[in-house]
Amino acid sequence: MLIPNNQDKTHLSADVANLRDALDQTQRVRHGRDTGTLTKQQVTALLGLDEHVCLRQVSDERRESDWVKNEIRDRYEQRRAADYLELIGQEEVDRRIVLASDHVAAHPDDLVEGKDVVTCPVCNRETLAVTGIDDFGVGYGPGTCLACSYVFSSHAAHEEALSHMLSRHSKD
Ligand SMILES: [Zn+2]
Repeated sequence: MLIPNNQDKTHLSADVANLRDALDQTQRVRHGRDTGTLTKQQVTALLGLDEHVCLRQVSDERRESDWVKNEIRDRYEQRRAADYLELIGQEEVDRRIVLASDHVAAHPDDLVEGKDVVTCPVCNRETLAVTGIDDFGVGYGPGTCLACSYVFSSHAAHEEALSHMLSRHSKD
């Protein structure tokens, strides 16, 4: 995060004893003396340091790698659904589109602006049955496509909603 917010800690107490032990362990490895072992307490002490606004590295990197993993997962999912769409053929797709128009959300809270199906990013038909709301409530809830079977994850929904919000902002 580039802009510090109010929750950012500029002061924190460090578990010096455990940090010193952890350093001892890692130095052993760095100097090729031995293999080191970190205890849970030592790792916790290190992660505690990460709470300081100037040191926030571990959590940022971890968040980043989670984001990449989710992006890759979604791309695979899109490919899988596109292959599946081809496999079932146009006739079956048409049949499913008709069925999707009658789809009723399992729970009223699942509705996005009163709609229970939205446009699917894979097959481009109004067949994506929404099962939740996105983080901004702008109509990109996660769900599953009733035609191509694409699973629109919470991550993908968040990304779509975010880009929608950003493009709306740039127009203002
Ligand atoms: Zn679809």
